[in-house]
Amino acid sequence: MDIHEYQAKELLKRFGVQVPRGGIAYSPEQAVYRASELSGDKWVVKAQIHSGARGKAGGVRICASEEEVCDAAAWMLGRKLVTHQTGPQGKLVSRLYVEEATAIAQEIYLGFVMDRKLERVVVVASAQGGMEIEEISANEPDSIIRSVVDPAVGMQAFQAREIAFSLGLEPPLIAQAAKTIMGCYALMSDMDANMVEVNPMVVTRAGEIVALDAKISFDDNALYRRPEISELRDKSQEDPRETFAEDRGLSYIGLEGEIGCIVNGAGLAMATLDMIKMAGGDPANFLDVGGGASPERVLMSFQAVLNDPKVEAILVNIFAGINRCDWIAEGVVRAVRELDLDLPIVVRLSGTNVDEGRKLLAESGLAVIAADTLAEAADKVVTAWKDARYKEAS
Ligand code: GDP
Ligand code: MN
Repeated sequence: MDIHEYQAKELLKRFGVQVPRGGIAYSPEQAVYRASELSGDKWVVKAQIHSGARGKAGGVRICASEEEVCDAAAWMLGRKLVTHQTGPQGKLVSRLYVEEATAIAQEIYLGFVMDRKLERVVVVASAQGGMEIEEISANEPDSIIRSVVDPAVGMQAFQAREIAFSLGLEPPLIAQAAKTIMGCYALMSDMDANMVEVNPMVVTRAGEIVALDAKISFDDNALYRRPEISELRDKSQEDPRETFAEDRGLSYIGLEGEIGCIVNGAGLAMATLDMIKMAGGDPANFLDVGGGASPERVLMSFQAVLNDPKVEAILVNIFAGINRCDWIAEGVVRAVRELDLDLPIVVRLSGTNVDEGRKLLAESGLAVIAADTLAEAADKVVTAWKDARYKEAS
């Protein structure tokens, strides 16, 4: 789960990381009021969306007067901001964060990620942080600092100081930078985050270390024990297809293709995506219905898949152990009738109660295409999808 920058900064502050003062605003009037609350004569108006790279898209504006704050706020609010991380549909800006502006001497990149191969948290840092970090890491990979944290002891003060030294910071800044690094790591491990990114962490002209931007992602599987984190969730920033499925306990991930998939088990679901690709199609989603799926659950899976307007055909692939093929078939029949479906549906059933399941489908009189093996099912769904496309076009 992702959270907004202002929420991330609030958390970082609790862990001893210095952040600029600021306030949240929902309207241009409020933005001006927030600016007036903060002393100084320069403010930054920042669009709060679950995406980085806002600066290049106009979502971060430095303002030198209340009029400018008002204009920037009016421009951002209600806008779908398109960054290179949001996809072409963009993300709706409905909250702003207004901060006191910081005079920057240096922008540093500081990231904490899970390295799955090493099974460790890795700290990634660069003395040349800011908006061009992608180019720096592509063109000058050797300039990137990496430091692996031993989970048995956690981030050690000497290790944090070592990173600070490698960044080439002046001696008076080392302790502050180390404190920031320690704070980020403590947040990550205490709050079950799987990613913390501070880009940029800046050295201010006044000689302080400040987290100017912050992005934090939390482990969904640990949210049950972090109610103070789950309440930060902003569903309006999430893929509505994924939210619908997640709210119903379905494991769903939206993809780019046209062939919807309803499968049991994550492994079989992955294999199904591969087989669709090999047959010349493109899957629209990953969906695992889980074990012991009731007909209602199958019906909900159809709804989840069909929430994606790109879906033009559906493949149901069940290898039933705990599941029952007759329940799955019943769910398919209900879905076709209740949702009034007329797109091609291919069903491959195998395992527990398979004969009952196939019989149910055959006797339903519905135009559901049956298949015996996964390879056959993948071929049939891609062929049926192409035929349907051809008919539509002619
Ligand atoms: P992002 O583009 O979504 O990553 O948004 P950031 O919060 O990182 O802001 C983008 C860039 O705007 C930063 O890299 C800074 O160069 C600049 N910026 C942001 N806040 C300030 C500020 O208070 N003062 C100055 N001078 N620049 C800022
Ligand atoms: Mn940033």
